Amino acid sequence: MLLGLSTWPEVEHYLDDNTGIIVPVGSTEQHGPTGFLGTDFITATAIAEKCGEQTNCLVAPPITVGMAQHHMGFPGTITLRPGTYINVIVDWITSLSKHGFQRIYFINGHGGNIAPTITAFNEFYASVSLHPETKQSSTLCKLVNWWTMPGTDALIKDIFGEADGAHATASEIAITQYLHPDSIKPAPDDLEPAKTGSPALDIHNAYDFRRRFADGRIGSDVRKANPKDGEIIFNKAVREIAEDCSSFIRS
Ligand SMILES: [Zn+2]
Repeated sequence: MLLGLSTWPEVEHYLDDNTGIIVPVGSTEQHGPTGFLGTDFITATAIAEKCGEQTNCLVAPPITVGMAQHHMGFPGTITLRPGTYINVIVDWITSLSKHGFQRIYFINGHGGNIAPTITAFNEFYASVSLHPETKQSSTLCKLVNWWTMPGTDALIKDIFGEADGAHATASEIAITQYLHPDSIKPAPDDLEPAKTGSPALDIHNAYDFRRRFADGRIGSDVRKANPKDGEIIFNKAVREIAEDCSSFIRS
């Protein structure tokens, strides 16, 4: 059930028995010479919608622009400043909580969203802890990144090993190829190997990123991406996240 295709009476009825909602969150940012700008919201949204079907949980519209300042050296990227992003997430949580949603499950497709999403959760919790009269004290939030789910991560390592890389990964591009086979951009055979690095340690500003990672990839061999492996990884992520989501919304 998708919030965007529901009416308010349907949502009111849903809330009689269910207080869980899934929110896909991604980014619009460069994904190397062959990856879609929408990669992160495309993967998160498709996984979220399938998880919603499997758990009978309502799925909110995707948040398609995230915190991606470091990718602004590449045309097409759109970013929210960290403070703006945090405010957006807090306002989504506050709005949903106000209607009675008490378990808000964010499925994330973009590493740059992790830190500000956790900060946003703490901003929301602080407003509850400091002002208990807001009556939103029972709302809890959880963030999962599809690629760091333990079983999915192990499967990705099995399939691609080191070639998966750390940005514009073979696995995320493979999933988008599975979801949008008519839009695949083939990687040239003579593509230079990507520079390696760690997004957790090596990310500063957009100029520095482009200087060090000239075509946008970090460590990924995108020639290995293919729709068949994308389907396998997608299905694994859906199974693993649906199970986790189910236990969270019942917790
Ligand atoms: Zn990505």
